[in-house]
Amino acid sequence: MDVRLVKEIAGRLEERCVGEVPPPGLSRKDHIVKILYDELAKLLGGESEFSFKPGRTNKVLMLGIQGSGKSTITAKLAKLLTRQGYKTGVVGADTYRPGALVQLRTMCERSNVEVYGEEGESDAPAVVRRGLRHFGDSCDVILVDTAGRHKEEGELLDEMKRIGKAAEPDLALLVIDGTIGNRCYAQAEAFHKTVPVGGIVVTKLDSSAKGGGAIAASAATGSSVMYIGTGERIDDIEQFSSTRFVGRLLGMGDVRAVLELAKRLEDGDQDRLKRISSGKMTMDDFYQQLGEVAGAGSLQGLLENMPGFSGSVQTGKIEQLEGRIERWRYIIQSMTQAEKADPDLLNASRIKRIARGSGWPEHDVKELRKGYNNSKGMIKASKGRQMQGMLRRMGL
Ligand code: GDP
Repeated sequence: MDVRLVKEIAGRLEERCVGEVPPPGLSRKDHIVKILYDELAKLLGGESEFSFKPGRTNKVLMLGIQGSGKSTITAKLAKLLTRQGYKTGVVGADTYRPGALVQLRTMCERSNVEVYGEEGESDAPAVVRRGLRHFGDSCDVILVDTAGRHKEEGELLDEMKRIGKAAEPDLALLVIDGTIGNRCYAQAEAFHKTVPVGGIVVTKLDSSAKGGGAIAASAATGSSVMYIGTGERIDDIEQFSSTRFVGRLLGMGDVRAVLELAKRLEDGDQDRLKRISSGKMTMDDFYQQLGEVAGAGSLQGLLENMPGFSGSVQTGKIEQLEGRIERWRYIIQSMTQAEKADPDLLNASRIKRIARGSGWPEHDVKELRKGYNNSKGMIKASKGRQMQGMLRRMGL
């Protein structure tokens, strides 16, 4: 990757990681994950897809070097768009590689996508012009596949420029081989100079490659990744998701759960968080924290997505915990303000009264008190930063 870019990213990361204090409830590790995500997502341009303009033909030019998976992704995209209801046509303008047109036709045949091409013709811009004329306004989208190799790089780029003029594309999609890594920046920059790149596709992400080159390609062109290729079969294409991608890059699964938790904590009541981290949590605070961690009833999803957690939580236990949280709501409602503010007041006679008032056995009230005490002790020990630890103390 470009050295300037690396320096720039590293500098920003260091500044933020050192300078920012994690909000109470978020571990330092998760906070760093969030900062990393923020910065990488900024480079990747967030999540985006091409917005097709209705009522007219949208022309998409596919760019990329030979072997990047350009023809394959063209066929995949044609099928995907067809399934989404767009009438799609393909122009095969790779007039350089022998067999390119046959390959494209074979791949598109099964999804009933028409491919226009001229076997034996070497003037690619002319093929593009005639191809576009052939489809006329019968299509919503026309994908134009191009050559990826010439005797000289200069020749290839010159041809792209001429094809760009002939096609006047609404979108130029740059296809990047996810396994090539650090050569992406220069490659993307060179293509971008010939035809302004509006989106990126990263292929071969089914391999062990992490696709870090996508970040370089995004930075070089100022455009976002739109699709990824995840295999050799025609259906192995996905809309790009930056949370999944960054998770993969960091080797930790989907980072969405961490981000959502961070957001909830940031949006949360600062007074309450301050109270909790200083060891003065009330019963209401405890309940609200639990609710936040559990999310909108999706504790399972949260934990499954939480790095290091997936697979460790059994469904039965989740239901058990959700049931417990629900019970505790009724029990807490039966407490007086004084008891909620200072749960140490909960002695045997108060417990008996609360049990009667809430309709739950004393055993459950005691369990709540124990959960509260465990959590409070744990938060104190970790200075309030260990939400995951809290869940573990809850028996998960
Ligand atoms: P082009 O020269 O850029 O048009 O590249 P092709 O579409 O011919 O693909 C080059 C090779 O990469 C072929 O063997 C494809 O089967 C393979 N390929 C393309 N996309 C993927 C992908 O997402 N995953 C894997 N594993 N292989 C891919």
